[in-house]
Amino acid sequence: MYDILPVLGSGLVISGALLLAMAIAPVWKIVRQLPTGGLRYSWGFLILLILIFIAGYVIYAKFSPVQFSQLFDLVVPIIFFGGAIFVFVVCSLSLRTTRDIMQNYALKQENITDSLMGIFNRRYLDRRLKDETERALNYSQPLSIFLIDIDHFKQVNDNYGHQVGDLVLKNIAQLIKHSLRESDVLARFGGEEFVVILPRTKDSTSYTLAERLRHVVEDFQLTLPEESDKDSLSISVTVSIGVAGLNAQCKDCQCLIENADRALYQAKRNGRNQVITSKSGKTDTKMNGGLIGAPEPR
Ligand code: GH3
Ligand code: MG
Ligand code: MG
Repeated sequence: MYDILPVLGSGLVISGALLLAMAIAPVWKIVRQLPTGGLRYSWGFLILLILIFIAGYVIYAKFSPVQFSQLFDLVVPIIFFGGAIFVFVVCSLSLRTTRDIMQNYALKQENITDSLMGIFNRRYLDRRLKDETERALNYSQPLSIFLIDIDHFKQVNDNYGHQVGDLVLKNIAQLIKHSLRESDVLARFGGEEFVVILPRTKDSTSYTLAERLRHVVEDFQLTLPEESDKDSLSISVTVSIGVAGLNAQCKDCQCLIENADRALYQAKRNGRNQVITSKSGKTDTKMNGGLIGAPEPR
Protein backbone atom coordinates (compact mmCIF):
# COMPACT_ATOMS: atom_id res chain seq x y z
CA MET A 1 0.00 0.00 0.00
CA TYR A 2 2.83 2.35 0.86
CA ASP A 3 4.12 1.90 -2.72
CA ILE A 4 1.50 4.23 -4.09
CA LEU A 5 2.26 7.02 -1.60
CA PRO A 6 5.02 8.64 -3.73
CA VAL A 7 2.72 8.60 -6.80
CA LEU A 8 -0.16 10.00 -4.72
CA GLY A 9 2.06 12.70 -3.22
CA SER A 10 3.48 14.00 -6.46
CA GLY A 11 0.08 13.46 -8.18
CA LEU A 12 -1.62 15.74 -5.66
CA VAL A 13 1.01 18.44 -6.09
CA ILE A 14 0.96 18.32 -9.90
CA SER A 15 -2.89 18.29 -9.95
CA GLY A 16 -2.77 21.31 -7.66
CA ALA A 17 -0.43 23.07 -10.09
CA LEU A 18 -2.81 22.27 -12.98
CA LEU A 19 -5.79 23.58 -11.01
CA LEU A 20 -3.85 26.78 -10.30
CA ALA A 21 -3.10 27.10 -14.02
CA MET A 22 -6.83 26.70 -14.74
CA ALA A 23 -7.60 29.45 -12.22
CA ILE A 24 -5.70 31.92 -14.42
CA ALA A 25 -8.39 31.77 -17.15
CA PRO A 26 -11.25 33.34 -15.09
CA VAL A 27 -8.86 35.95 -13.63
CA TRP A 28 -7.67 36.84 -17.12
CA LYS A 29 -11.31 37.27 -18.24
CA ILE A 30 -11.91 39.65 -15.31
CA VAL A 31 -8.76 41.63 -16.20
CA ARG A 32 -9.94 42.01 -19.81
CA GLN A 33 -13.33 43.37 -18.72
CA LEU A 34 -11.90 46.00 -16.41
CA PRO A 35 -10.87 49.46 -17.60
CA THR A 36 -7.22 50.43 -17.22
CA GLY A 37 -6.59 51.43 -13.64
CA GLY A 38 -5.73 50.27 -10.14
CA LEU A 39 -8.28 47.46 -10.01
CA ARG A 40 -7.10 45.98 -13.29
CA TYR A 41 -3.50 46.01 -12.09
CA SER A 42 -4.55 44.32 -8.80
CA TRP A 43 -6.20 41.43 -10.68
CA GLY A 44 -3.16 41.30 -12.99
CA PHE A 45 -0.95 41.02 -9.90
CA LEU A 46 -3.08 38.05 -8.79
CA ILE A 47 -2.15 36.25 -12.04
CA LEU A 48 1.52 36.86 -11.24
CA LEU A 49 1.02 35.41 -7.73
CA ILE A 50 -0.68 32.31 -9.16
CA LEU A 51 2.24 31.82 -11.58
CA ILE A 52 4.69 32.07 -8.67
CA PHE A 53 2.65 29.45 -6.75
CA ILE A 54 2.63 27.13 -9.79
CA ALA A 55 6.42 27.40 -9.98
CA GLY A 56 6.57 26.61 -6.23
CA TYR A 57 4.37 23.52 -6.66
CA VAL A 58 6.46 22.22 -9.57
CA ILE A 59 9.74 22.79 -7.69
CA TYR A 60 8.31 20.99 -4.64
CA ALA A 61 7.14 18.01 -6.73
CA LYS A 62 10.52 17.70 -8.42
CA PHE A 63 13.02 18.50 -5.68
CA SER A 64 11.30 17.75 -2.38
CA PRO A 65 13.52 15.57 -0.17
CA VAL A 66 10.39 13.94 1.33
CA GLN A 67 10.21 10.28 0.30
CA PHE A 68 6.44 9.81 0.89
CA SER A 69 7.14 6.61 2.80
CA GLN A 70 4.37 7.11 5.37
CA LEU A 71 0.83 8.55 5.27
CA PHE A 72 1.87 11.62 7.28
CA ASP A 73 4.16 12.66 4.38
CA LEU A 74 1.00 13.34 2.32
CA VAL A 75 -0.10 16.19 4.60
CA VAL A 76 1.80 18.84 2.65
CA PRO A 77 0.63 17.65 -0.84
CA ILE A 78 -2.96 17.50 0.50
CA ILE A 79 -2.64 21.08 1.77
CA PHE A 80 -1.17 22.12 -1.61
CA PHE A 81 -4.07 20.46 -3.45
CA GLY A 82 -6.68 21.92 -1.08
CA GLY A 83 -5.13 25.39 -1.52
CA ALA A 84 -5.29 25.04 -5.30
CA ILE A 85 -8.99 24.01 -5.15
CA PHE A 86 -9.67 27.06 -2.96
CA VAL A 87 -7.91 29.42 -5.40
CA PHE A 88 -9.71 27.89 -8.40
CA VAL A 89 -13.16 28.15 -6.76
CA VAL A 90 -12.57 31.74 -5.59
CA CYS A 91 -11.35 32.84 -9.03
CA SER A 92 -14.26 31.16 -10.85
CA LEU A 93 -16.80 32.64 -8.42
CA SER A 94 -15.18 36.06 -8.81
CA LEU A 95 -15.65 35.89 -12.58
CA ARG A 96 -19.32 34.91 -12.23
CA THR A 97 -19.94 37.62 -9.65
CA THR A 98 -18.17 40.26 -11.76
CA ARG A 99 -20.26 39.30 -14.81
CA ASP A 100 -23.51 39.41 -12.81
CA ILE A 101 -22.67 42.81 -11.36
CA MET A 102 -21.71 44.20 -14.77
CA GLN A 103 -24.87 42.81 -16.37
CA ASN A 104 -27.06 44.30 -13.63
CA TYR A 105 -25.26 47.63 -13.95
CA ALA A 106 -25.75 47.65 -17.74
CA LEU A 107 -29.46 46.82 -17.33
CA LYS A 108 -29.85 49.52 -14.71
CA GLN A 109 -28.08 52.06 -16.93
CA GLU A 110 -30.28 51.06 -19.87
CA ASN A 111 -33.35 51.53 -17.69
CA ILE A 112 -32.43 55.07 -16.75
CA THR A 113 -30.76 56.28 -19.94
CA ASP A 114 -32.36 57.93 -22.96
CA SER A 115 -31.14 55.85 -25.89
CA LEU A 116 -31.03 58.76 -28.36
CA MET A 117 -29.32 61.36 -26.23
CA GLY A 118 -27.24 59.25 -23.87
CA ILE A 119 -28.43 61.20 -20.83
CA PHE A 120 -30.87 60.27 -18.02
CA ASN A 121 -34.45 59.58 -19.06
CA ARG A 122 -37.74 60.87 -17.68
CA ARG A 123 -38.21 57.91 -15.33
CA TYR A 124 -34.91 58.62 -13.62
CA LEU A 125 -35.59 62.36 -13.58
CA ASP A 126 -38.92 61.96 -11.76
CA ARG A 127 -37.36 59.82 -9.06
CA ARG A 128 -34.21 61.88 -8.66
CA LEU A 129 -36.07 65.19 -8.55
CA LYS A 130 -38.33 63.84 -5.80
CA ASP A 131 -35.30 62.62 -3.83
CA GLU A 132 -33.36 65.86 -4.27
CA THR A 133 -36.39 67.95 -3.28
CA GLU A 134 -36.91 65.91 -0.11
CA ARG A 135 -33.23 66.13 0.75
CA ALA A 136 -33.12 69.88 0.17
CA LEU A 137 -36.20 70.43 2.36
CA ASN A 138 -34.92 68.12 5.13
CA TYR A 139 -31.54 69.84 5.29
CA SER A 140 -32.87 73.35 4.52
CA GLN A 141 -30.67 73.60 1.46
CA PRO A 142 -31.45 75.48 -1.74
CA LEU A 143 -32.37 73.56 -4.90
CA SER A 144 -32.88 74.89 -8.42
CA ILE A 145 -33.86 73.40 -11.74
CA PHE A 146 -33.61 74.46 -15.40
CA LEU A 147 -36.24 73.58 -17.95
CA ILE A 148 -34.54 73.93 -21.33
CA ASP A 149 -36.30 73.91 -24.70
CA ILE A 150 -34.56 74.22 -28.07
CA ASP A 151 -35.88 77.17 -30.05
CA HIS A 152 -37.67 76.56 -33.36
CA PHE A 153 -36.52 72.97 -33.40
CA LYS A 154 -39.34 71.98 -35.71
CA GLN A 155 -37.60 74.05 -38.39
CA VAL A 156 -34.43 71.95 -38.00
CA ASN A 157 -36.47 68.83 -38.69
CA ASP A 158 -38.32 70.50 -41.55
CA ASN A 159 -35.17 71.90 -43.18
CA TYR A 160 -32.71 69.03 -42.72
CA GLY A 161 -34.83 65.97 -41.95
CA HIS A 162 -35.59 64.04 -38.81
CA GLN A 163 -32.29 62.14 -38.82
CA VAL A 164 -30.24 65.33 -38.76
CA GLY A 165 -32.65 66.59 -36.09
CA ASP A 166 -31.78 63.54 -33.99
CA LEU A 167 -28.07 64.22 -34.48
CA VAL A 168 -28.51 67.83 -33.37
CA LEU A 169 -30.42 66.66 -30.28
CA LYS A 170 -27.70 64.19 -29.38
CA ASN A 171 -24.95 66.79 -29.79
CA ILE A 172 -26.79 69.46 -27.81
CA ALA A 173 -27.50 66.97 -25.01
CA GLN A 174 -23.81 66.05 -24.77
CA LEU A 175 -22.77 69.71 -25.02
CA ILE A 176 -25.05 70.61 -22.11
CA LYS A 177 -23.92 67.57 -20.12
CA HIS A 178 -20.28 68.54 -20.44
CA SER A 179 -20.96 72.20 -19.58
CA LEU A 180 -22.57 71.34 -16.23
CA ARG A 181 -20.94 70.81 -12.87
CA GLU A 182 -20.28 67.31 -11.55
CA SER A 183 -23.12 67.62 -9.04
CA ASP A 184 -25.76 68.70 -11.60
CA VAL A 185 -28.13 66.15 -13.10
CA LEU A 186 -29.21 66.38 -16.74
CA ALA A 187 -32.21 64.43 -18.06
CA ARG A 188 -34.46 64.45 -21.10
CA PHE A 189 -37.83 65.82 -20.08
CA GLY A 190 -39.48 64.90 -23.37
CA GLY A 191 -39.15 65.80 -27.08
CA GLU A 192 -36.39 68.43 -27.34
CA GLU A 193 -36.73 69.53 -23.73
CA PHE A 194 -34.25 68.94 -20.93
CA VAL A 195 -34.30 69.36 -17.18
CA VAL A 196 -31.22 70.10 -15.11
CA ILE A 197 -31.37 69.55 -11.35
CA LEU A 198 -28.94 71.78 -9.47
CA PRO A 199 -28.62 70.57 -5.86
CA ARG A 200 -27.52 73.11 -3.24
CA THR A 201 -27.79 75.95 -5.75
CA LYS A 202 -29.47 79.30 -5.08
CA ASP A 203 -31.55 81.20 -7.67
CA SER A 204 -28.83 83.80 -8.16
CA THR A 205 -26.16 81.20 -8.95
CA SER A 206 -28.47 79.12 -11.12
CA TYR A 207 -29.35 82.15 -13.24
CA THR A 208 -25.65 82.78 -13.94
CA LEU A 209 -25.13 79.10 -14.76
CA ALA A 210 -28.17 79.07 -17.06
CA GLU A 211 -26.89 82.17 -18.89
CA ARG A 212 -23.52 80.51 -19.36
CA LEU A 213 -25.22 77.40 -20.70
CA ARG A 214 -27.34 79.47 -23.09
CA HIS A 215 -24.15 81.07 -24.47
CA VAL A 216 -22.41 77.71 -24.84
CA VAL A 217 -25.31 76.41 -26.97
CA GLU A 218 -25.53 79.63 -28.96
CA ASP A 219 -21.81 79.45 -29.85
CA PHE A 220 -21.91 75.78 -30.83
CA GLN A 221 -22.04 74.75 -34.48
CA LEU A 222 -22.68 71.22 -35.61
CA THR A 223 -20.83 70.64 -38.87
CA LEU A 224 -22.07 67.77 -40.96
CA PRO A 225 -19.61 66.18 -43.39
CA GLU A 226 -19.89 66.94 -47.11
CA GLU A 227 -22.05 64.64 -49.15
CA SER A 228 -21.20 63.92 -52.78
CA ASP A 229 -23.63 66.44 -54.23
CA LYS A 230 -23.81 68.91 -51.33
CA ASP A 231 -21.49 71.29 -49.45
CA SER A 232 -20.76 70.67 -45.77
CA LEU A 233 -23.50 71.92 -43.48
CA SER A 234 -23.24 73.92 -40.26
CA ILE A 235 -26.25 73.94 -37.98
CA SER A 236 -26.62 76.02 -34.85
CA VAL A 237 -29.55 76.35 -32.46
CA THR A 238 -30.44 78.41 -29.43
CA VAL A 239 -32.25 77.48 -26.26
CA SER A 240 -34.71 79.14 -23.93
CA ILE A 241 -34.35 78.31 -20.25
CA GLY A 242 -36.86 78.55 -17.41
CA VAL A 243 -35.25 78.54 -13.97
CA ALA A 244 -37.08 77.74 -10.73
CA GLY A 245 -36.01 77.11 -7.16
CA LEU A 246 -37.50 75.88 -3.91
CA ASN A 247 -38.85 78.65 -1.72
CA ALA A 248 -41.57 79.36 0.83
CA GLN A 249 -44.29 79.18 -1.85
CA CYS A 250 -42.79 76.26 -3.76
CA LYS A 251 -42.01 73.21 -1.69
CA ASP A 252 -42.37 70.20 -3.96
CA CYS A 253 -41.05 68.92 -7.25
CA GLN A 254 -44.32 69.38 -9.11
CA CYS A 255 -44.36 73.06 -8.18
CA LEU A 256 -40.70 73.36 -9.28
CA ILE A 257 -41.52 71.98 -12.73
CA GLU A 258 -44.63 74.15 -13.04
CA ASN A 259 -42.69 77.30 -12.16
CA ALA A 260 -39.83 76.43 -14.50
CA ASP A 261 -42.37 75.70 -17.25
CA ARG A 262 -44.05 79.05 -16.68
CA ALA A 263 -40.66 80.80 -16.80
CA LEU A 264 -39.79 78.93 -20.00
CA TYR A 265 -43.07 79.95 -21.57
CA GLN A 266 -42.27 83.56 -20.71
CA ALA A 267 -38.78 83.22 -22.24
CA LYS A 268 -40.40 81.97 -25.45
CA ARG A 269 -42.90 84.83 -25.44
CA ASN A 270 -40.13 87.36 -24.86
CA GLY A 271 -38.42 86.27 -28.07
CA ARG A 272 -36.53 83.02 -27.20
CA ASN A 273 -32.76 82.50 -26.66
CA GLN A 274 -32.98 83.79 -23.10
CA VAL A 275 -33.16 82.79 -19.46
CA ILE A 276 -36.08 83.64 -17.22
CA THR A 277 -36.15 82.89 -13.51
CA SER A 278 -39.41 82.15 -11.76
CA LYS A 279 -39.57 84.52 -8.83
CA SER A 280 -42.24 82.59 -6.96
CA GLY A 281 -45.16 80.28 -7.58
CA LYS A 282 -47.50 83.23 -8.03
CA THR A 283 -48.61 84.26 -11.51
CA ASP A 284 -50.50 87.40 -10.66
CA THR A 285 -47.66 89.69 -9.59
CA LYS A 286 -46.92 92.77 -11.63
CA MET A 287 -43.50 91.56 -12.69
CA ASN A 288 -44.09 89.32 -15.71
CA GLY A 289 -46.59 87.22 -13.81
CA GLY A 290 -44.13 86.26 -11.10
CA LEU A 291 -41.27 85.91 -13.57
CA ILE A 292 -38.14 87.95 -13.87
CA GLY A 293 -35.21 88.11 -16.27
CA ALA A 294 -32.67 87.96 -13.48
CA PRO A 295 -32.97 87.09 -9.82
CA GLU A 296 -33.22 89.77 -7.21
CA PRO A 297 -30.06 90.33 -5.18
CA ARG A 298 -30.15 88.38 -1.94
P1 GH3 B 1 -40.24 76.67 -29.88
O1 GH3 B 1 -39.19 77.68 -30.10
O2 GH3 B 1 -41.57 77.30 -29.57
O3 GH3 B 1 -39.89 75.64 -28.88
O4 GH3 B 1 -40.43 75.97 -31.28
P2 GH3 B 1 -40.25 74.43 -31.63
O5 GH3 B 1 -40.30 74.28 -33.09
O6 GH3 B 1 -39.03 73.92 -30.97
O7 GH3 B 1 -41.54 73.87 -30.98
P3 GH3 B 1 -41.71 72.70 -30.00
O8 GH3 B 1 -40.74 72.81 -28.91
O9 GH3 B 1 -43.15 72.66 -29.60
O10 GH3 B 1 -41.47 71.49 -30.96
C1 GH3 B 1 -40.69 70.44 -30.70
C2 GH3 B 1 -40.28 69.76 -31.98
O11 GH3 B 1 -39.22 68.87 -31.68
C3 GH3 B 1 -41.39 68.96 -32.58
C4 GH3 B 1 -40.80 67.61 -32.87
O12 GH3 B 1 -40.89 67.34 -34.23
C5 GH3 B 1 -39.36 67.76 -32.51
N1 GH3 B 1 -38.87 66.60 -31.78
C6 GH3 B 1 -39.26 66.16 -30.55
N2 GH3 B 1 -38.59 65.04 -30.23
C7 GH3 B 1 -37.75 64.77 -31.26
C8 GH3 B 1 -36.81 63.72 -31.52
O13 GH3 B 1 -36.57 62.82 -30.72
N3 GH3 B 1 -36.11 63.79 -32.69
C9 GH3 B 1 -36.33 64.79 -33.60
N4 GH3 B 1 -35.63 64.81 -34.73
N5 GH3 B 1 -37.24 65.76 -33.39
C10 GH3 B 1 -37.94 65.76 -32.25
MG1 MG C 1 -38.73 73.90 -28.92
MG1 MG D 1 -40.56 71.63 -26.98
